[in-house]
Amino acid sequence: MPTAIAWDSPVQYLKGVGPVRAQALSRLGIVTVADLLRHYPRTHLDRSRVTPIRDLRSGAEATVLGRVLTSGERRSRQGRTVQTVAVADAGGTLFCQWFGQPYLLRQLRPGLEILLGGRAQIYNHRMQMVHPDYELLEDGGATLHTGRLVPIYPLTTGVGQHWLRRLVHETLTAVRDRLEETLPAAVLTAHGLTGLREALCGIHFPQDGADLEAARARLVYEEIFLIQLAMACRRRDFGERPGLRLGPPGELTARLVAQLPFKLTRAQRRVAAEILRDLRSGRVMHRLLQGDVGSGKTLVALLGALFVIEQRHQALLMAPTEVLAHQHGEVCRRLCEPLGVSTATLTGSTPAKERREILRAAGAGEIDLLVGTHALVQDGVDLPALGLAIVDEQHRFGVRQRGRAGRTGDEIAPHVLVMSATPIPRSLALTLYGDLDLSILDEMPSGRRPVATGTVAAADLDACYAGIRDRLRAGERAFVIYPVIEETSGQDLRSAEAEYERLAAGPFRDHRVGLLHGRMKSRDKQAVMAAFAAGELDVLVATSVVEVGIDVPQATAMVIHHPERFGLAQLHQLRGRIGRADLASRCDLVLDRWLAPDAAERLEVFCSTQDGFRLAEEDLRRRGPGDVLGVRQHGAPVFLLANPLRDLAVVALAAADAAGLLSVDPRLEGPGLGPLREVLAAGFGRYLALTAAG
Ligand code: ADP
Ligand code: MG
Repeated sequence: MPTAIAWDSPVQYLKGVGPVRAQALSRLGIVTVADLLRHYPRTHLDRSRVTPIRDLRSGAEATVLGRVLTSGERRSRQGRTVQTVAVADAGGTLFCQWFGQPYLLRQLRPGLEILLGGRAQIYNHRMQMVHPDYELLEDGGATLHTGRLVPIYPLTTGVGQHWLRRLVHETLTAVRDRLEETLPAAVLTAHGLTGLREALCGIHFPQDGADLEAARARLVYEEIFLIQLAMACRRRDFGERPGLRLGPPGELTARLVAQLPFKLTRAQRRVAAEILRDLRSGRVMHRLLQGDVGSGKTLVALLGALFVIEQRHQALLMAPTEVLAHQHGEVCRRLCEPLGVSTATLTGSTPAKERREILRAAGAGEIDLLVGTHALVQDGVDLPALGLAIVDEQHRFGVRQRGRAGRTGDEIAPHVLVMSATPIPRSLALTLYGDLDLSILDEMPSGRRPVATGTVAAADLDACYAGIRDRLRAGERAFVIYPVIEETSGQDLRSAEAEYERLAAGPFRDHRVGLLHGRMKSRDKQAVMAAFAAGELDVLVATSVVEVGIDVPQATAMVIHHPERFGLAQLHQLRGRIGRADLASRCDLVLDRWLAPDAAERLEVFCSTQDGFRLAEEDLRRRGPGDVLGVRQHGAPVFLLANPLRDLAVVALAAADAAGLLSVDPRLEGPGLGPLREVLAAGFGRYLALTAAG
């Protein structure tokens, strides 16, 4: 039976699995044998070295073996449950704490033998571990589970640690001799990497620490190499596609620049030149424009659009939200119409009649620049002379839709410019967007003043609002941000709807207050945003819908309630809504409760810098690239072991290796590259190849 296992065999047919367990495994993303073998341990407990509890040192990682003494539960002041389990060995007692995991009490019953791994910490004179890794020992546990580096896997209901460990072990034993090497031999030798077979055994059941490290190094390299190779292939394919070739620029862009009330930054001029060079190269442009919030990306995009428009082509600008599409539409209309360039805005809420007319005009080539939400592209807008498609705030789309705009045209593909305000470090950009050329706006328009950012105790909120009233009287505007739309029972969070009423009747009763949140009708959102931008509202009470791209230069103050509820990137985007002109701005974070150390640290970082690259790096370090960039949901490369931030050097190596390989063997036809080709074709998640059975 084992010889019949292929890498894409469903795990359901493995011995001891069956339909119910298979269902449970699928919740971990494990469907095939390859998925199972790529379900890497979260960590390993070092059971070859157990520390007696009385020898634990505060701050140090350790593994402890003992028996559960007592277990119990209490409620924290924030209403969460806290599970505390006391574990004792011959010489001492260790207190373990978990938050919000009541089911643990059923598992960790007094008297059971337990193995714990984590960081010991003295707290209230007691030795503690918070959220340690743990495992209950079965009587007479086999050598698979003790006396060695033992893998600890991510689990789900219906999948136990021991059972899964045994399943991985048996499956690995059954297939290991038929695992085919995926990496080119030359690459393995050049970097001294272990083969796939040893690496898979080593990542699950390492002999020792060195074995584990070697396995990890190989698998990390492999993940990054495969992505680099796929990117390099795409890039090569792009490069082979002929693109619309533009002639020398006329005077349209110069006229646009002349009518601006400010001078372009050096970075804006440089990037515009990079775009122009692409547009004139005869090859299709695929360029990513990165720039921190407020760096002036819109204008650069508009310059690109005018380059193609003045040569009688059309341009398309897509935004992630309707609010943003209307804002872009308005800016484009204001700047373009004096130049004789026709623009139109199309979103999901454009009335049917108007929509038909816009589609007709666009199809007849009467509209030069069409602005809209990405829904617009999916609904098959026909732009016969499309020369440039611009996608704003790309991270909102996820990676998959990225290629889409490029597919509208027929023989000659339009140029594509993608803009992102998630300032990711170059190494990561290379990894995720290695198929795109990269331009960076690394300079803010002059005259911008830093946004003073600090925390306010809830008790000092009156003074904070008084300060804002002074600003309003001077003609400035303010945002007040809440994490939720309405109050829900069991959560003591202030909400946008309830506080809107209170603020409008209380602290801001002499001012015009508006409300904006995600559940409002698009048309209403639109109206509120427009009123705030036009100065018909002084204060905007909102949820994080204002997060992306909104540009109101007179907005100079922001108060964020429950800031611990927002991620770093989100906070940065929110704060980016103020300080967009040369007025002094301030952002206040309202604190009304005890914060977990991790949240407190995050807010501290946020207060200390306004550098988007710094914050993004911090965010990536904390949450991992998949979550930050929203790629996980979109089926883009998922990193199992690699972390492009940490593995910078590997990214560079692998990129060079991939390019080198393609330059000598563009179709990967060399001897031994069959498995590699197969893996590339199959996608990233399951890159394993086994020789045919029998
Ligand atoms: P983002 O890069 O976040 O999309 P925007 O393109 O919305 O930023 O620009 C932010 C604000 O800065 C806008 O009001 C825009 O008019 C203004 N702006 C753009 N370029 C400059 C410049 N060179 N000097 C001064 N202000 C500028
Ligand atoms: Mg923008």
